[in-house]
This record gives sequence, structure tokens and C-alpha cells, in this order.
Amino acid sequence: MVNADLTCMPFDTIFTDMANGFFSGRNGSDQLSVFLTAVALVLAAAASVISEEAARAAVTAVAAALVAVAAFRMLSMNTAKRRAENEKFLSFLRSFSSTTEEKARKKARKEDLKTHAYFRCPECGTECRVPRGKGKIRITCPRCSHQFIKRT
Ligand SMILES: [Zn+2]
Repeated sequence: MVNADLTCMPFDTIFTDMANGFFSGRNGSDQLSVFLTAVALVLAAAASVISEEAARAAVTAVAAALVAVAAFRMLSMNTAKRRAENEKFLSFLRSFSSTTEEKARKKARKEDLKTHAYFRCPECGTECRVPRGKGKIRITCPRCSHQFIKRT
């Protein structure tokens, strides 16, 4: 005769359950929090090599504040707001990388203009790239095969 039928649970299952209970409904880790933590770590490392007392204290304080914000975001129950913040952060990163890309493309184009000329096909508007310094040339459009004469 037993009082209750208990199923034995391994310890780590109990721990996982507790952790899941704690983090369920909370925002958890996202890219913005990871980024904030990473910046905090860099600042903390930088602070350790700063010799001036006041500057070191200031950098350490900023690092601590970033960790606090990251922790707050991870534990936050307002997941919608946190997700919106993370989205904003990600789109900011994307815009930054596209500006850099655009600059690189513009620079490459500027370099290229020294040796090549660009003409638009009068028929279909396709841009045709031809070498400079050839004098009068007949250009054949790669798209519609229309031929037109240009001087480079
Ligand atoms: Zn064309």
C-alpha cells in the first residue's frame, strides 16, 4: 500500500522547468541585448587600461548601465515593445551597411568613368558601358541589339 504514485524526475529536468517558468513570457535574449552586452564588455576591457581615475569610472559606469539595460530587456514582460526596439536596431544596422555599400559602388563607378563611358540605348534605355578613347564607335545594345554611334 502506497500513499501516492510519484514519478521520479532527474534533477536537470526540474532545473529546466524552473528556467522555462522564469523566462516564459519574458523577452529573453535578442540581437540588441547581445549587442549591448558586447559593447559593455569592450568598454569594461577598455576601462581596465585607462589610467585616469575619472575617465575609468565614467567608462565603467557606462558599461554597467549597458549591462543593466540588456538585463532589463531580457527580463522584460513587454515583449512587443522589446521586439520593436530590436527591429529598429536591426534596420539601423541594415541602413548603415547599405550606405557603406552605396559609397563603395559610387567610388568604383567614379574610378571606372576614367576609363569607360556610359551611354543609354536610345531604344530601350539600357545602360551600355564602353571603353573611352576609341573615337567614334558603333555601340550595339546588349539588350535589344539596337546600334547607335557615339564618340568617346
Ligand atoms: Zn537597347
